[in-house]
Amino acid sequence: MTTPYPEGSVNAYLLLGNPVTLIDTGIWLDDSVRQIHQALMNVGLDWKDIDQIVVTHMHTDHTGGVHAIQREVDAPIFVHSGARFALQGGMAEFERVNAYFQDFFRACGAEGKVTRNHKYREQKWAGVHYVDDGDVIRAGSRDYQVLYVPGHSQTDICLWNEEAGDAFVGDHLLKDISANAFMEPPSPAQADRLKALLQYRSSMARTRALAFRTVYPGHGSPYVGHQSLIDARFQEHEERCEAILQHVQDGLSTIYEISSAMFPWLQGGAVFLGLSEIMGHMDLLVERSVVKVESNQGVLVYTAQS
Ligand SMILES: [Zn+2]
Repeated sequence: MTTPYPEGSVNAYLLLGNPVTLIDTGIWLDDSVRQIHQALMNVGLDWKDIDQIVVTHMHTDHTGGVHAIQREVDAPIFVHSGARFALQGGMAEFERVNAYFQDFFRACGAEGKVTRNHKYREQKWAGVHYVDDGDVIRAGSRDYQVLYVPGHSQTDICLWNEEAGDAFVGDHLLKDISANAFMEPPSPAQADRLKALLQYRSSMARTRALAFRTVYPGHGSPYVGHQSLIDARFQEHEERCEAILQHVQDGLSTIYEISSAMFPWLQGGAVFLGLSEIMGHMDLLVERSVVKVESNQGVLVYTAQS
């Protein structure tokens, strides 16, 4: 389906058989929903034939169509249990997330320099089934193991059928775009800031060791060769770490300063992407004791370890 986002189009997959399963739902715009309907009709089906929906993660280009589709068919939705807060937390959760981002911007040294315009929108999904790592979802006459692979988001799951080697990976492993490790709030039960890139790397190390054959991604065509893709991503992390370290050695000390130096074209809300990217790699540099970090009135200040 088409999207107005830079990544271009987003995929949904229909698994025929029993139960007929839709994986991901595109964005909320009518056009996108119409494209799914057209694809259904192309295989002789209609909305009512969808038995269940699985969403690979809680990003709006994958979940946006849920409302419209549930108006047409009473199909349950499978989603990672981490989505519980967003789906059930209401206004209080919305405010908690906003407060988190204010703290995050402050930590980056970007207070007052980034705008984040998110309006409260109640998510009303019917028949939600929360899944966790190791669960099995029967879809299209096959059993798929749920792999929890946080990093790109906190709700990323892959569906894997070992026998066929088929893996539906959402945005965990994209071939044409290097997916961001988005900084998201920890769940209300967790106190500490999440280290999304470190999570992402351990999720990739895990899926690298699995015998995926055909990978069905959230964007772009299905492909084979997830291990070389993961190796290339790890290599990109090394290169980005080197570039960041150079800036730290040159005297830049906050996430915002480094992001502005490396991604000067990012404006408005998109600045967040740069901050998220730099923060993720900085976590890696700190973990490796290449860089050290101190907090100065809530602002994280980084210096090179001598
Ligand atoms: Zn996506």
